[in-house]
Amino acid sequence: MAKYTSPDCKQCRREGCKLFLKGERCLTKCSFDKRPVGPGQHGADKKKVSEYRLQLREKNKVRTAYGMLEKQFRIYYEKAVKSKEQTGWALLKMLELRLDNVVYRMGLGTSRAEARQIVNHGHITVNGKKVNIPSYQVKAGDVIAVKDEKQSLEMFASLKGLKVNAPKWLEFNTDALTGKVLALPEREDIDLGIQEHLIVEYYSR
Ligand code: SF4
Repeated sequence: MAKYTSPDCKQCRREGCKLFLKGERCLTKCSFDKRPVGPGQHGADKKKVSEYRLQLREKNKVRTAYGMLEKQFRIYYEKAVKSKEQTGWALLKMLELRLDNVVYRMGLGTSRAEARQIVNHGHITVNGKKVNIPSYQVKAGDVIAVKDEKQSLEMFASLKGLKVNAPKWLEFNTDALTGKVLALPEREDIDLGIQEHLIVEYYSR
């Protein structure tokens, strides 16, 4: 699969906020915390920000945070336009309900990239069936679990007994390595200070 090769921390600095792309390091040795300015020699220069640039940055911030390529992100946007809900919210909800994001939110991966790998490698079941598609959309009531035969892997065994800070719409039992989608997320459950109306304005130009 094609991927952007820009270093993760540079992407945070470009988007002007922490996107939590590098797992544990984001909580301990974050380079954005040390130098919260744009990348490059002129990163700290004050620039006049046009409306278009604001919209582009917001779109790229969300796309990068969820690990999407432009083409995939655009497909989500087009689906959101057809939804009966408000477009910006419909877009965020679809991203939040991706299986790789849910695995990340449950604390099974330290970053969305790691969670995606966990799903890709077939370690996760949904309602008892193996699902290895990161974009799979989960529903309220779905039971997400680590496959029985994979629970002894160090990455999962080390979680046993730990307290996970899952959002209120999810629950996760680290002893059983099983979780549940209790409800669909609400707007306030999605962080990063996203202004989704800017993304809609960007694509509506
Ligand atoms: Fe790097 Fe993570 Fe900090 Fe972003 S949040 S700058 S990826 S360490």
